[in-house]
Amino acid sequence: MPLEPEMLKSLVRAAAERVIASTSELTALDQAIGDGDHGANMKRGFEAVLGKLEAIGGQPPHEALKTIGKTLVMTVGGASGPLYGSFFLAAGEALSGKTLPDDVVEVFGRGVGAVSARGRSQAGEKTMLDVLVPVLETLKWAVGQPDVIERVRATASEAVQRTAPMLATKGRASFLGSRSVGHIDPGARSSFLLVQAVCDTLEPRQ
Ligand code: ADP
Ligand code: MG
Repeated sequence: MPLEPEMLKSLVRAAAERVIASTSELTALDQAIGDGDHGANMKRGFEAVLGKLEAIGGQPPHEALKTIGKTLVMTVGGASGPLYGSFFLAAGEALSGKTLPDDVVEVFGRGVGAVSARGRSQAGEKTMLDVLVPVLETLKWAVGQPDVIERVRATASEAVQRTAPMLATKGRASFLGSRSVGHIDPGARSSFLLVQAVCDTLEPRQ
């Protein structure tokens, strides 16, 4: 069954509300290894997305993703704005002529690839990619299986915890050198929250 407008709106609303509700948690994580603005950056961006929810719900899914991407680029700021913006813009481009959930690996994969290209970064550097890449890897083998959502949820929550012992080599946290070790990466946490919100909407937890 292709993605219906009402489901698209529910997914976007859930993701935005989850991030907004977690503002202070994201702020605290970024205070530990960055400049403390990740919570406010994400809140601003996803409030802007919520403000366009009706328009987004009326667009074909690939255009909706691009609208989200453009909105995040314009409003989030920091390093994460262009990175999340690139994710949704590239995912939207990939979705043109394709359908969800059938082509989720290609669509999500293009988004992850765009973050990596824009950030000149890869998994293992203590960034949002340390959640996004493991989720993509799980999607590759678990799509079509009955427990795919549960697998993705588990992958994302393990992946975000695994950023704590990592040494940051990209972004502001890399300025701290070994003092970045022992803290969860804020962008990995916001990616985790977005993935969890989508999973919880597609398949509410028991
Ligand atoms: P800033 O670092 O400019 O203050 P934010 O605090 O909003 O921006 O976002 C910080 C997050 O952005 C980091 O926790 C990390 O996950 C992500 N990030 C930073 N640089 C990169 C990069 N080059 N590649 C991937 N993600 C990055
Ligand atoms: Mg910051």
